Amino acid sequence: MPIYAYQCSACGHAQDEMQKVSDAPLTVCPQCGQSSYSKQVTAAGFALKGNGWYATDFKNGQPAKSGAPACGASGCGGCSAG
Ligand SMILES: [Zn+2]
Repeated sequence: MPIYAYQCSACGHAQDEMQKVSDAPLTVCPQCGQSSYSKQVTAAGFALKGNGWYATDFKNGQPAKSGAPACGASGCGGCSAG
């Protein structure tokens, strides 16, 4: 089964979802429950284009390198190493 990268545009929650090709795309975010959960086309890396939450971080004057929610609770090692 293919794995799709999903992200919520409301709260920024990102998660990989394993789905059958025939399954309907998910729309409800498991984190905040809003219908802002959508499949990300860019599966390789996080080349975000026009996703608000990421751009918002830069407005604080700091690059959003740390605290990126992409890895979440599962972690990737790189993130938790800080
Ligand atoms: Zn959400």
